[in-house]
Amino acid sequence: MNDCIFCKIVNKELSSEIFYEDEKFIVFDDISPKAPVHKLIVPKIHIESVDKLDDGNISMMSDITKIAKKIAKETNVTGYTLSTNVGKDAGQIVFHLHVHFLGYKNG
Ligand code: 5GP
Ligand code: ZN
Repeated sequence: MNDCIFCKIVNKELSSEIFYEDEKFIVFDDISPKAPVHKLIVPKIHIESVDKLDDGNISMMSDITKIAKKIAKETNVTGYTLSTNVGKDAGQIVFHLHVHFLGYKNG
């Protein structure tokens, strides 16, 4: 049994407001938004955090950057922050790699 919330969202066992999806990633609204546009960019495979990436899959961070640019364009934000937490001491509460897209408009 896999109790990971984000794996359940990936597998559609839990509903979410899906913004974008492809073979490798899913993007959905954060349930508790901390910015006018707050989306989570999530790889479909279960990896705990960026700290667990290796030479074989670290290139996913460039894919995530490309997806962030797409979100920015399609949501018409004028500025955004990308962040990812590693470990509970940094505030990570869901231990499935995700990058927060926090978007803002016109100051
Ligand atoms: P972390 O602190 O692990 O980087 O962030 C986890 C994020 O996931 C939080 O911002 C939290 O609001 C969001 N979150 C937690 N559970 C759910 C859920 O079931 N659905 C969605 N859409 N977001 C969630
Ligand atoms: Zn997972």
